[in-house]
Amino acid sequence: MEFVLNMFLVIVLVGVVNLARYIFKIRKIMKMHKDNPNIQGISIINGEIKVIEKNDTTSELKKEPLKELVSDSVCGQEIDKKEAYRLFKEGKEHFFCSWECREKFLKENHSLEGKI
Ligand SMILES: [Zn+2]
Repeated sequence: MEFVLNMFLVIVLVGVVNLARYIFKIRKIMKMHKDNPNIQGISIINGEIKVIEKNDTTSELKKEPLKELVSDSVCGQEIDKKEAYRLFKEGKEHFFCSWECREKFLKENHSLEGKI
């Protein structure tokens, strides 16, 4: 019984020492980054203490191609490529903000072709 208790104490002690070391490290890091306004927090991954900065999240957002803007071939409005109406014509891709613009483009091009 005493052996088990001793083992338990050792485990608890190791835990406390590790915790104290982490707290010490975190406090040191916090001091180092005290003047950093972008700091958001600290994460511990596999014993590694990492500082989470706002810049990290924004750069992650930038990595994602969130919005690719294309301009409407009729009204010139800038639209998200993913949401745009598309039309392939003579090997060229055209984008439109709405079905109306797409129809308008088709009509205008049709009438041009008719004139030529
Ligand atoms: Zn349009």
